[in-house]
Amino acid sequence: MTERLYYKNSYTSEFQARIVDRSPDGQTVYLDQSAFYPTSGGQPFDLGSIAGVAVVEVVDEGDRIAHRLATPLTAGKEVTGRIDWDRRFDHMQQHSGQHLISAVFEELFGLRTVSFHLGAESATIDLEGGPVDSGTLVRAEQRANQLIYENRPLDVRFEDAKEAQGLRKASERQGMLRIVSIEGLDRSACGGTHVRATGEIGVILLRKVEKIRQSARVEFVCGDRAVKRARADYEALTKVSQVFSAALDEVPGMVAAQVEAAKAGEKARRKVELELAAYQGKDLYQATAPGPDGMRRVTQRLELGNLEDLRAVAQNFTAQPMGVFVATLQDPPSVLLAASADSGVDAGKVLKAALTAAGGRGGGNARIAQGSVPDAGALEELMQAL
Ligand SMILES: [Zn+2]
Repeated sequence: MTERLYYKNSYTSEFQARIVDRSPDGQTVYLDQSAFYPTSGGQPFDLGSIAGVAVVEVVDEGDRIAHRLATPLTAGKEVTGRIDWDRRFDHMQQHSGQHLISAVFEELFGLRTVSFHLGAESATIDLEGGPVDSGTLVRAEQRANQLIYENRPLDVRFEDAKEAQGLRKASERQGMLRIVSIEGLDRSACGGTHVRATGEIGVILLRKVEKIRQSARVEFVCGDRAVKRARADYEALTKVSQVFSAALDEVPGMVAAQVEAAKAGEKARRKVELELAAYQGKDLYQATAPGPDGMRRVTQRLELGNLEDLRAVAQNFTAQPMGVFVATLQDPPSVLLAASADSGVDAGKVLKAALTAAGGRGGGNARIAQGSVPDAGALEELMQAL
């Protein structure tokens, strides 16, 4: 059984221990006592070293803690363990912040935390019920930070499960419970590592809220993560503000105005494009000599681009009497067929039949139809058929 040093003191970053067991390959070791935190309760494992060999994973096996190493350990029985303190303290800040945030959401809005996840960039809690709108988020953030300024002590003690009162979330465990409390605010059964007082959380920034089934998932960052995140946000926003040569606070209004202007520009462009297509369709019709049957036939082949660009031209061409318009695109292999109302050609039926024969698919109405085929060979076959 491994004695868990982090249960009594989260601040132990270096410790002496004795190896009591190891795997045959020497890459997993068990110690009589360890300050290494194994993945548990939403908090990831610690990194660090044992006898100078890097620890790559720490696993809770119930009674024992397994330390997985980068290379086999050849040292003797007595070893020194060192915890990657920056990583651990970051986890302590996020995890303690989670207790605080969960307590605040419950205190202010009656929203219960049903799960917690601590990721590499940010952490999340899932709140039962809701909704959590931006006003709720801002109020919770203000209250949580106020509790940080009050620097309330966090206390860890062991109590019998039968006698433990006032827990935020009832524990299913039997026997001794490890209870983490924030003075005057919260009591939770938890095996994780926490800071000594709320002041060490530093600062809390609540970020986005997502609806996940019946819960609201709230993303948050504490301490150094909050500062780094705010710095990254600032830099991103600064780049945008430079594009607009505007002050940071004016950027949202500028972006909204630009989007509106772009939409209006796009609308005007579409209008001009359609007008141009009308001229092109009519010009093409004039420039095409009718066949002996009085039908004007035009074929246009595109290597690249979009058949949609020719649709309006085709429609304007076949708006005149006795005309048939075919356009193909090489990549992806596709075809467009349009026919005048008096041409006696049903574009939809004709193209559908030719597409089916060539292994393609598509369709349309009597006046205009469109489809695609699997490859260039099938496109040629289709053109011959048409
Ligand atoms: Zn905890």
